[in-house]
Amino acid sequence: MHELDTATLRKYDSDYLWHPFTQMSEWEGADNPVITHGEGSYLIDSDGNRYLDGVAALWTNVHGHCKKEINEAIKEQVDRLEHSTLLGLTNDRAALLAKRLVDIAPSGLCKVFYSDNGSTAVEIGVKMAFQYQMQQGKPGKTKFIAFDNAYHGDTVGSMSVGGIDIYHATYKPLLFPTIKAPSTYCYRCSLCEARDPKRCGMECLKELERLMEEHAPELAGLVIEPAVQGAGGMIVQPEGYLKKVRELCDRYDVLMVADEVAVGFGRTGAMFACAKAGITPDIMALSKGISAGYLPLAATLTTRKVYDAFWGEYAELKTFFHGHTFTGNPIACAAALANLDLFESERLLENLVPKIAYLKERLQGLLALPHVGDVRHEGMIGGIELVRDRESRDPYPWEERVGVRVCLEARKHGLFLRPLGNVIVVFPPLSISMDELKILMDGIEKSIVAITGE
Ligand SMILES: *Cc1c(COP(=O)(O)O)cnc(C)c1O
Repeated sequence: MHELDTATLRKYDSDYLWHPFTQMSEWEGADNPVITHGEGSYLIDSDGNRYLDGVAALWTNVHGHCKKEINEAIKEQVDRLEHSTLLGLTNDRAALLAKRLVDIAPSGLCKVFYSDNGSTAVEIGVKMAFQYQMQQGKPGKTKFIAFDNAYHGDTVGSMSVGGIDIYHATYKPLLFPTIKAPSTYCYRCSLCEARDPKRCGMECLKELERLMEEHAPELAGLVIEPAVQGAGGMIVQPEGYLKKVRELCDRYDVLMVADEVAVGFGRTGAMFACAKAGITPDIMALSKGISAGYLPLAATLTTRKVYDAFWGEYAELKTFFHGHTFTGNPIACAAALANLDLFESERLLENLVPKIAYLKERLQGLLALPHVGDVRHEGMIGGIELVRDRESRDPYPWEERVGVRVCLEARKHGLFLRPLGNVIVVFPPLSISMDELKILMDGIEKSIVAITGE
């Protein structure tokens, strides 16, 4: 395949491909790199240029690109079985992975429902919570608490529980209504003037409590990104916040749906953010890191309590009538099993400790730059918000695309980055070496200086 020259590949891309989240008028005809190879923390294009992958193939990659052990697990699986189905059959990989996921999940989560991507994993959680309440004899509990600035995916159901206007506003007439709770986005929060994430978090909790108390009889569930609102700009929740949310869900008989699609699989320094916070959600959605960034796979985990509400005679129609064609695909499950093996054999979480400390230090150092308004950090996640004026927190107009320009500048330093508006995202493969992390942060710093100093 790669014998085609770069110009031909770009032409085919421009002529036939429609890219996600992309204004194609800007894309077509631009000299976009055509990635043909991957190696460790690097992506390599058709001209042989190497880019340090600062966003881990859109927040999915764990052990680096083309990791030998995962490649081998996939090759071995392909020669045994490519796919069967979980509708009426099972397969060895899907069964083994379900057990392994339950072993590492926050205690109490004991059943695994597979799908193929993060949006469906959340949507399944929403449907499960809804049907759970019906089958508990609580037909009035049909609504969901969702958060401002939340992102749970792009299908209609997962958009409904999202809260990012630029992505979701157009589709509003299509979406089911939710009860919106405030994000802990201190920076933009109107609840208090504190601009102190800790205080802000507590004010947000008060408002959440008020909403839950008011709406309890009609609430089926609450959908939350634990620890960090990812696509919303890497907004980090204050310590203790999640525990309080769990308590409120218990108090008001509301199922807690935790979307760990972005933060699961080691990203926060712990295997799962909920476990790090000392809580077990009723439903947990996993995807991005699950197959180490190799193949589309997702899982929605739940507790015995929820599972049991679906138990009965067939004629009672308590079955969870949901399923995707590629559910439990054995090749994807084999990749996920190899991923989990590597967490152990490479002592991945232990090895993150110094990298997390270094990332934190470098992010804080960036506050010395005049146009860095805020830095956010959790585990191996960084967010750097660029502002026109730090004192007044006056943002750059979105039309100026400062984030995009910094990321394009970073290409000159051999980095691949993808921003969230004016927030520069740091989300490298967890396997990144200390030296590479230094190269990444040096390049980001230089690129910010170059663009914001203009
Ligand atoms: C990426 C993401 C999703 C959506 O996952 P897809 O695989 O893109 O559908 C859902 N929730 C969170 C928190 C995410 O970061």
